Amino acid sequence: MSARALTAPPGPVRNAMTVDVEDYFQVQAFAHCVPRADWDTIAPRVEANVDRILEQFAEAGVRATFFTLGWIAARHPGMVRRIVAAGHELASHGWDHTRADTQDPATFRADIGRTRRTLEDIGGVPVRGYRAATFSIGARNLWAFPVLEAEGYRYSSSINPIRHDLYGMPDAPRGPFRPEGGTLWEIPMTTVRLAGHNLPCAGGGYFRLLPYRLFRAGLQRVNRTEGRPGVFYFHPWEIDPAQPRVADAGWKSRLRHYTNLDRMSGRLDRLLHDFAWGRMDQVFLNTPFPCGRGTGGGDGPSGVMEPAGDGRHKAGHDELGAGHGDVGG
Ligand SMILES: [Zn+2]
Repeated sequence: MSARALTAPPGPVRNAMTVDVEDYFQVQAFAHCVPRADWDTIAPRVEANVDRILEQFAEAGVRATFFTLGWIAARHPGMVRRIVAAGHELASHGWDHTRADTQDPATFRADIGRTRRTLEDIGGVPVRGYRAATFSIGARNLWAFPVLEAEGYRYSSSINPIRHDLYGMPDAPRGPFRPEGGTLWEIPMTTVRLAGHNLPCAGGGYFRLLPYRLFRAGLQRVNRTEGRPGVFYFHPWEIDPAQPRVADAGWKSRLRHYTNLDRMSGRLDRLLHDFAWGRMDQVFLNTPFPCGRGTGGGDGPSGVMEPAGDGRHKAGHDELGAGHGDVGG
């Protein structure tokens, strides 16, 4: 099926702003030199960084989704409550940043169940969203989706449809889709389609390494040309240039982790003001897409994620929104 040209939506498209709440020493790049057994011996910086982010979001009038590690929530319950009190969505990033594609289904289920219950107990709100550590859901472990659904999750934002050495599923749909047979939505990281490739346009190291205007042009293209919302993500340690340096990390990890940390807050400010932002559940679960209704081909659902189970989402691999006809083509 082919993507059709779309007219621009009437107002600005609202994108989803997301934060993966973990400390600087818990990232995948340092997993080989900072063992989990040592985590409790390292002075945490995540809470102070999250408080700065909460201030920045409040000043910009932005509400966001905080995908939070259970390990972090258990040690920083006050921070979790401040996130909720400020009107942000509390969501799960798994317990201790173990890659989902290294777990078996039973271990994965225990991990995401424990995390959800911990977050809900502390935050006092239902937790419906999940993001796998290091975007570690892909072709090898699609079984994770029904497990997430069985464990009470309504959506996942765990696939990055790009080529990358640590993760990626380049042939996955670029927009929200329901993995075969389920009611759970996967909402992939945003990409820009160029010359037959998906280029990353969702944040992370790329946002700090590349010029801001390039990123802005990419997200504008997704919003205006494709008429659909994007997903942006970053980490609390990215706004923290004073974090201690991990000595044993390789050059590639150091480049990705440390470049332009001092510029991140300023760039984030521009981003917050250049686009409209909201929580994942507000952007993708509760509101109609600003565009895309009835477009995108025969299997395109209404463009509204709610109500679920309206009988039109049962035909296997559903995708929401428009412009996905070029994927894999
Ligand atoms: Zn993470």
